[in-house]
Amino acid sequence: MARIYNFCSGPAALPLPVLEKAQAELTDFQKSGMSVMEMSHRGKIFDEVIQKAEANVRKLMSVTDDYSVLFLQGGASQQFAIIPLNLMTQGGFAEYIDTGYWADRAIKEAKVIGKVQIPWSGKDANYLQAPNLKDIVFDSKADYAYICPNETISGLRWPELPVDCPTHLCADMSSYIMSEQINVKRFGLIFAGAQKNLGPSGLALVIIRKDLAERASETVPIFFRYRTHMKEPSLYNTPNTWAVYLLQLVTDWLLEQGGIPAMKIINERKAKALYDALDASNFWKPCVQGEARSRMNITWRMATEELEEEFVKTAKSAGFDGLKGHRSVGGIRASIYNAFPEQGVRDLIAFMKEFERKKG
Ligand SMILES: *Cc1c(COP(=O)(O)O)cnc(C)c1O
Repeated sequence: MARIYNFCSGPAALPLPVLEKAQAELTDFQKSGMSVMEMSHRGKIFDEVIQKAEANVRKLMSVTDDYSVLFLQGGASQQFAIIPLNLMTQGGFAEYIDTGYWADRAIKEAKVIGKVQIPWSGKDANYLQAPNLKDIVFDSKADYAYICPNETISGLRWPELPVDCPTHLCADMSSYIMSEQINVKRFGLIFAGAQKNLGPSGLALVIIRKDLAERASETVPIFFRYRTHMKEPSLYNTPNTWAVYLLQLVTDWLLEQGGIPAMKIINERKAKALYDALDASNFWKPCVQGEARSRMNITWRMATEELEEEFVKTAKSAGFDGLKGHRSVGGIRASIYNAFPEQGVRDLIAFMKEFERKKG
């Protein structure tokens, strides 16, 4: 049975060599006579896995020692709650840039815990526009500021990220992390659900400056304090050992590919090819214009919903799966993260040309 081209937004395609390695090591990991899922998370073998995963993240993103690298559970969504729980002060407030579905989810959660200010919102533009840095003024009195650099559902990417935010900048990089270089030093906290660019779902990678990890007040449940997980590095409770292991394999693979700079070049090339194809004919109607276009999630509409449905169905039977847009917005979405092969983009474009020839 052949592997198909999987455009799913998440859980998303993993590199085939990673899956093959995991398969080969599944029943007898490192001559232990058991799988990585069956052994103690405090034993020597798993300790090497988690150390390597952390070292890989540090190497790929140039994370310095003043930051903690944590592997937590509850995916990205749990961080929506954990961040305000840890960083919002009594009587304080946080600033959120409202760029779309995922920023909005984080805002809703933060509002449960404290006061939220929204210096910029793309809601009136149907979340199809990204903010310009010059239009945003962060309040230095805010406990922290919050952004989502790539909105997975609308297919929106910040053309530029804030450079010197006057408060601690927190970012949901679930569908952005390791797709291009960033300067970690500009952020107080970076988090990402693993299932887009790093591994399986349920795992969250958190990169947090150590002084921020110390902030939570004693009223925050122990389990929900970042410092708890910093002091017993990701081993306060039993981590998702399988997911950490796969993240280690994915980051090994990224390093073999030449790291993030090499991925960025390929990602730009993949996205450009697909946007060029969409722009070439009125048959396709890309949702996002210009600089705000995501390189990871490419969204478009067609003349009618019936035609979109037919496109998704026909594509699926031709071996291109996961192209249906998010239920909240409809349309078509192609998610082409790091692990998505460039040949798959070329083949999709050829399929689209043929579909247009028949239906256009
Ligand atoms: C997928 C996604 C999430 C949600 O991730 P979960 O792990 O399901 O909580 C949050 N933010 C962004 C930007 C995403 O793409």
